[in-house]
Amino acid sequence: MKEKYTPGQGCECHAHSEAECGCDVDWTPREVYELREQRDRLAEALLWAKKEHDARIAVFAYAGPVISAEYERLGMRLMEAKHNATIARESALAIVKETKKQQKKTTH
Ligand SMILES: [Zn+2]
Repeated sequence: MKEKYTPGQGCECHAHSEAECGCDVDWTPREVYELREQRDRLAEALLWAKKEHDARIAVFAYAGPVISAEYERLGMRLMEAKHNATIARESALAIVKETKKQQKKTTH
């Protein structure tokens, strides 16, 4: 806003109010300009907050399913890995058992 605005500035008829004044000058109270500025700033902040909010909602809407799909995929891989480890352990034990059997046969 006009930095040093005062109502009735530029008046040349020495009036004290718009009612008395015959000049074509602005008698709007300074507060009106200040409040309008404040309102515009708040409207801007509100708009920004709304955009921010909408953007976050969009990210969550997108990321949510992606994350749960990945979680499920990892869970399945973990189960598969456990299963493979069990098989590997079992076949290792079988080999050890077989080897011991063979050793007994050769030593006796
Ligand atoms: Zn005047």
